Amino acid sequence: KKKIAIMTSGGDSPGMNGVVRACVRMAIHLGCDAYCIYEGYEGLVRGGDLIRKMEWQDVRGWLSEGGTLIGTARCMAFYERSGRLAAARNLVAQGIDAVIICGGDGSLTGADRFRAEWPSLLKELEENGEFTAAQLEPYRHLNIVGLVGSIDNDLSGTDATIGCYSALARICQCIDLIEATAYSHSRAFVVEVMGRHCGWLALMAGVATGADFIFIPERPRPDNWREEMCSVVEHHRKLGKRKTIVILAEGAIDRQGNRISPEMVKDLLADPKGLGLDTRITTLGHVQRGGTAVAYDRMLATLQGVEAVKAVLEATPDTPTWVITINENKIVRKPLMEAVQATKKVAQAIKRQDWDEAMALRDTEFSE
Ligand code: ATP
Repeated sequence: KKKIAIMTSGGDSPGMNGVVRACVRMAIHLGCDAYCIYEGYEGLVRGGDLIRKMEWQDVRGWLSEGGTLIGTARCMAFYERSGRLAAARNLVAQGIDAVIICGGDGSLTGADRFRAEWPSLLKELEENGEFTAAQLEPYRHLNIVGLVGSIDNDLSGTDATIGCYSALARICQCIDLIEATAYSHSRAFVVEVMGRHCGWLALMAGVATGADFIFIPERPRPDNWREEMCSVVEHHRKLGKRKTIVILAEGAIDRQGNRISPEMVKDLLADPKGLGLDTRITTLGHVQRGGTAVAYDRMLATLQGVEAVKAVLEATPDTPTWVITINENKIVRKPLMEAVQATKKVAQAIKRQDWDEAMALRDTEFSE
């Protein structure tokens, strides 16, 4: 019986439990044994009871649970060969040679590296006398498939990462709440949302809440952004608006690459010589990550989980490590490293201050 293991890694995102549920049940449906690796790569390296066999009913009700019930962790040991050797030992000992990983680009890079190294890791286990060649024979090829779980929607090559629409919905709910009090006191609010390298949440929250002004890393405002923001806000106020909402991604920068902080924006809006608005800062923080997944993320988690199981069973030594994506409403398999490389290019384009390239690689339509 083929054994398939599922794990979540990197930052948690709503929908990860839906992924685990779909993978466990699809694996069982296709006659395989399903395993969960708890605590991300930490569980793979430590093994033991962190790798557990799962039954159909073990994931009952998981679609409506937030976070990841099998845990996630950052694992320094997996960056080292000795950690990956321990991981290989644990998989072989359990008879697992198919792994599905749901995580961000770091986790997926680690997965690709592990798969590429697998033959040499097995050789080392054999040379150490831990397993015989005959024992290792059934596990000569490790198949890994990635799923992108992230609230930031920061992987190039997919229209949506699992969790991003839940985080966006949460941000919109929070801004609705803020707006009521902002209106009452005629105040301005600077709302900081997650996204160190990716402004999708800030951009889409701006669209979805009708914010007055936004700041994102991929497309910094021209050098006169202070005057521009103040004149937009002033214009809106003159039209009778009693509330001002400015949304800032964590990674907001100016065209010289310097961070634009919520305090800087607040000071500008509050400046008594300028707009003189009663201004407050709200940093949404981890409320964006927690909570249950919206319907779209549950659907994405389920359809992509099903596809991941099919892909990991169909993979051969000649196929690339796949990542499951959604493109124009179709669930697609893509070479994982191509998506990771394109994502890295965005960070490089931001560093080079090539804003058009940064936006083009994000697959998001955007006009000034
Ligand atoms: P997020 O988008 O939430 O940051 P991520 O998957 O990118 O998620 P990372 O912290 O980069 O998060 O990676 C998670 C774990 O994956 C690391 O703690 C490490 O164990 C493993 N990992 C990441 N990159 C590599 C790599 N190049 N080689 C081996 N393992 C890696």
